[in-house]
Amino acid sequence: MADWNNVIGLEVHVQLKTKTKLFCSCEVEPGARPNSHVCPVCLGMPGALPTVNEQALEYAIRLGLALHCEIDPRPMWTRKNYFYPDLPKGYQITQTGGLPYYDHPVCKNGWLDIELEDGTTRRIGITRIHMEEDAGKLIHDMSPNESHFDANRCGTPLCEIVSEPDIRTAKEAVAYLTKLKQIVEYTGVGDADMEKGNLRCDANISIRPGEDAPFGTRAEIKNLNSFTHLEKAVEAERELQIVTLESGGTVEQCTKRYDVANNRTVVIRSKEDAHDYRYFPEPDLPRLTVTDELVERVRATLPELPEDRRRRFADQLGLTAYDAQVLCAEKPVADWFEAAAAASPNPKLVANWMMTEVLREARTGEGGATIPASRGLPNLKFSPEQLGELVGLIEKGTISGKIAKTVFSEMVATGNSPAKIVEEKGLVQVSDVGAITEAVRKVVEANPAQLEALKAGNAKLRGFFVGQVMKAMAGKGNPALINKALDSFLS
Ligand code: ADP
Ligand code: MG
Ligand code: ZN
Repeated sequence: MADWNNVIGLEVHVQLKTKTKLFCSCEVEPGARPNSHVCPVCLGMPGALPTVNEQALEYAIRLGLALHCEIDPRPMWTRKNYFYPDLPKGYQITQTGGLPYYDHPVCKNGWLDIELEDGTTRRIGITRIHMEEDAGKLIHDMSPNESHFDANRCGTPLCEIVSEPDIRTAKEAVAYLTKLKQIVEYTGVGDADMEKGNLRCDANISIRPGEDAPFGTRAEIKNLNSFTHLEKAVEAERELQIVTLESGGTVEQCTKRYDVANNRTVVIRSKEDAHDYRYFPEPDLPRLTVTDELVERVRATLPELPEDRRRRFADQLGLTAYDAQVLCAEKPVADWFEAAAAASPNPKLVANWMMTEVLREARTGEGGATIPASRGLPNLKFSPEQLGELVGLIEKGTISGKIAKTVFSEMVATGNSPAKIVEEKGLVQVSDVGAITEAVRKVVEANPAQLEALKAGNAKLRGFFVGQVMKAMAGKGNPALINKALDSFLS
């Protein structure tokens, strides 16, 4: 089985985060009352004329620049004809065309570097990014014997990002989609929330007997709506193709879906050809003109991308590569961390708190469910600045690291400032040498046998003594001073 190599290419749809739809001024409002944001243009009434949303075009260019694409100076709109109940117009305006002279997507020939688990990097080609309008939404689960239709999504702007068949394993496919999602979020062109359907992924996969063999016939698995489904669907389809070929069968090119319950791929239809859609240049829209000036204006809006931010966190803030990677994975997490780090003298210590306590709290949703940190952070009662302040109190020696955990729990529960909590609860670290020496003396006198053993070289007992003194001092003793005082009893 292991002798078969995969060839994988992904087609990813990203919903662009514009205020209005791609060709009309209907508002894009997630969760709006069904069929409340529609007009003759997005419903395809005869005679209604589309006009292009410039913000959507700028977002597509921004995404293309972030993915190192060439930007086409004259993108062309084409009409893709098909009948489906979620498409009242009977056609979709897009930028693909089947025939080369119709095929002028806004961006092409880009790439994306993915990082693999073993620390190596692979470059995956981006064939093209084209803009198109979305269809409406069919709702099948509102009643047992009826389907409902919501046209609000008709005409919302999408970018479809098509990769080269450069991906080789299910894990690489996941790494590619992860990175793409990050770039969509960082550039701010979309929310890229797979659960909400504003990032959707189709996976094409074929197998071949070796890396030099010609490509096999591919299956296209539609609408994979989570990273887990992507990984499992690719694995399941690979196994199926291996069994098919090894038992003397042939793989037919087809469109499939992933059946989650049975962990297998199921044919939806045999592959349609370009001529089935009777593509032609969209007669209601002129070709776009993308000037160099526009491209440069959009380039100027490109924010720092995840890779650059990771490098900066490592180089300037002294984080490990691993910490920087975790903290930059979701932009809101990186933003939160930066705000906290700016409010503290020790970014590395802030990172430690962030990686453990803060992310744990952020990822705990209602009823203990695990949620993405980016979603949980805004619900925390305390602010990044307060975390910075807490770390500052540790740095100054006002509180010990141990007491800081108590203060942190209190911040989680109340959102009170660390300084206030320390003061109200009397948690200030005791650094009074006299008081500490006194506490150490008592413990030493109560444990003469252990003292002799420690003197004789049983180093483990040091922890015992420090622990006992800490206990006697209600956790507030300064550990460094306790150790120092203990030394004076050993000589
Ligand atoms: P279509 O619209 O027919 O799906 P696209 O060009 O939009 O065609 O997308 C084709 C996708 O399939 C691309 O991501 C490409 O990399 C991938 N692909 C092409 N040939 C193969 C193959 N033999 N095996 C796996 N993936 C392939
Ligand atoms: Mg396709
Ligand atoms: Zn409309």
